[in-house]
Order: sequence, then structure tokens, then C-alpha cells
Amino acid sequence: MKTIGLIAGMSWESSAVYYNIFNRKTAEILGGYHSAKCIMVSVDFAEIEELQHKNNWKLLEKMMIQLAQQLEKAGADFVVLGTNTMHFCAFEIEKSIHVPFLHIADATGQKIKKTGLQKVALLGTRFTMEMDFYTKFIYEKFGIEVMVPDKPERELIHRIIYNELVHGIILNESREKVKQIVNNMNSTGAEGVILGCTEIPLLISDSDVDIPVFDTTKIHAERAVEIAIMGE
Ligand code: GLU
Repeated sequence: MKTIGLIAGMSWESSAVYYNIFNRKTAEILGGYHSAKCIMVSVDFAEIEELQHKNNWKLLEKMMIQLAQQLEKAGADFVVLGTNTMHFCAFEIEKSIHVPFLHIADATGQKIKKTGLQKVALLGTRFTMEMDFYTKFIYEKFGIEVMVPDKPERELIHRIIYNELVHGIILNESREKVKQIVNNMNSTGAEGVILGCTEIPLLISDSDVDIPVFDTTKIHAERAVEIAIMGE
């Protein structure tokens, strides 16, 4: 079995879900006493959040590269970055390590492709929805069109993520608002929805909306386990 390297702490609420899935999925595939081989490096999210909102992406990129290299040195066979937003610097991370990097939008795009859907909505931080690193990646690699909500809805989702979800606060009122956003996007052409923030699955799931949901935390973590056990 390969050792998964996880860059964690963005936020730890979703890193805990990754760790849970790594172990449960490993036990599901291998049975018995099996659990995942994993090395984790976890950051102080306060430092990350401050730099993100100051738009200091250069320094964040440097930090992500250092963390990936730390995991490689510690013996990780491949690297998993447990946040959609920081995939902003995925390309630079990939170039700076000698072990493979498992891109969250790659794992997600493969999953969507299998369903045959052509057009999906993306919910995430303002950064993920507004910079093109995510939407462009999925369109160019898989030919799947990615729609984002309108500006007021993007701001609302961003606030829910940073003021509630990363602190483990799950509110019914916010769930209803996000459900409404997904329904509106469905009526304007979205055939599915990418939960493109690793904390959004703490708030909504399949049962809350009428269209297929792509939970990036689950997809990414399960793909990591498949690679660890079965290879590419
Ligand atoms: N975990 C979130 C994501 O998947 C947001 C927190 C962060 O900015 O890293 O984008």
C-alpha cells in the first residue's frame, strides 16, 4: 500500500473528513484490520485565511510548495492538497515535487465525465468561483462547462464558508439559502453541482437537492485511497 501525503488544516473541519474517509475506504476495500498509510502536515488556518484575503497568492504558493516538499521528504508516495481554493497553485506544486500530485478538480472532473453531464454548477469560495483555475481546468481537460452563481450569491456562499463552516457551525438557515441557489442554477441549465469547497459537504448533500451532487472532499479522498491501494 502507498502512503498518502495530506496537506491539511484548510480547514481542519474538512481534514478530519479526509482522514475518516482514508481509513474507512481502506477498510472497505481491504477488510480486516486494514487502515490507511498516511502522513499529514497541518497548517494554522489563521495564517492562510489572512493571506488569502490580502490576495498574497505568491506567499501562499511558496507555503504550499514547502508543505508538499515536507511530505515528500517524510516519505509520502503522492500528495493530496485538502482544499479546492489552494489548487490555485497546483501547477507550481506539481512542478516542485518528484512524487505525483492528485489534483482535486481532476478527480472530480473524471467523476462528472462518467455521468455524461455537460454543464454543472460550482459552489466554493469566492476565490475558487471567480479566478479561472478551477472552471478552466475542468473545461479544458474534460469539456464540461462550469457555471458559477451570480455575484451576490457568490458573496453569500463565501461568507457561509468563512464565518460558519470552517468553524464547524452548520446552520439550517444557510442550508436553505444554498439549496435555493442550487435550484435556481438548475433552472438556468446546471445538470449537476460541484461542492467545490471541502467544507460545503458538511452543509448540503445529495438528499438536499434534485440534481447530482459532486462532493469534492469525498471524491478526492476516495480517489487517494484507490491510488494508494490499486495504483493509478
Ligand atoms: N476548504 C475550502 C476549499 O475547499 C476553503 C478554505 C480554504 O480557503 O482553504 O476551498
